Amino acid sequence: MTLLSVQHLHKAFGGNQAVNDVSFSLQAGELLALIGPNGAGKSTTFNLVNGQLAPDSGSITLDGVSLLGRKPHDLWRMGVSRTFQIAQTFGSLTVIENVQMALLSSDGQSLSPWRRAANYRRADALHLLEQVQLDTQAQRAGRALAYGDVKRLELAMALANEPRLLLMDEPTAGMAPDERHALMNLTRSLVTQRGVAVLFTEHSMDVVFEHADRVLVMARGALIAQGTPAQVQADPHVQTVYFGS
Ligand code: ADP
Ligand code: MG
Repeated sequence: MTLLSVQHLHKAFGGNQAVNDVSFSLQAGELLALIGPNGAGKSTTFNLVNGQLAPDSGSITLDGVSLLGRKPHDLWRMGVSRTFQIAQTFGSLTVIENVQMALLSSDGQSLSPWRRAANYRRADALHLLEQVQLDTQAQRAGRALAYGDVKRLELAMALANEPRLLLMDEPTAGMAPDERHALMNLTRSLVTQRGVAVLFTEHSMDVVFEHADRVLVMARGALIAQGTPAQVQADPHVQTVYFGS
């Protein structure tokens, strides 16, 4: 069952065709990686899907419903969560309050005054923290967390929305190799439990080839290959783009 369908997406900046006729689909329970050299159009594609940019033409649908013209917070309400290349959490709040804020937002409650978060759905927040193995740090200040833990907190906040689609922008950026694999293993188990679909951009090839179900490869705005990690690794076109051979 196709959850996300992207068809014939185009986006130009001036005369620069950053995304040129890109089409792909994503199923529930699937981890799909978007890779390509610098300037390939990964971030632009990602930002078209998350509503930060509007395409010049093409369609993006979630369960058959168009996402075009919707802002990131509208998408959040439709069950689209995202995490950022540089994790975005509230450093001045405790770890559990961060998740409570995400729960408030997911329930359509106003985020201010912030004090209201104090008792909001505490048990649910703690359960989410258990799932990302941060429950023992629930009372620490967000800013006191190690970077890998901030990434896991961000993931818990994204899951507070009970997403159908999770968009992750370079989820393992800035992490040590063992932390990277731990985060992706955690993402995999949450995806399997919840049937969430994940689209992620990624720089680190070992993460992509070990953890993605399928890989999209972009170069100069176009999708040049897609398939399983083994298929795209063996693709001569991909090898030319990456290794110039
Ligand atoms: P990637 O994320 O794969 O490195 P991008 O999507 O960031 O690639 O960029 C694709 C192309 O679009 C590049 O040539 C880049 O310079 C251009 N581009 C991206 N964003 C903008 C923007 N906001 N304004 C103008 N040009 C942009
Ligand atoms: Mg980019």
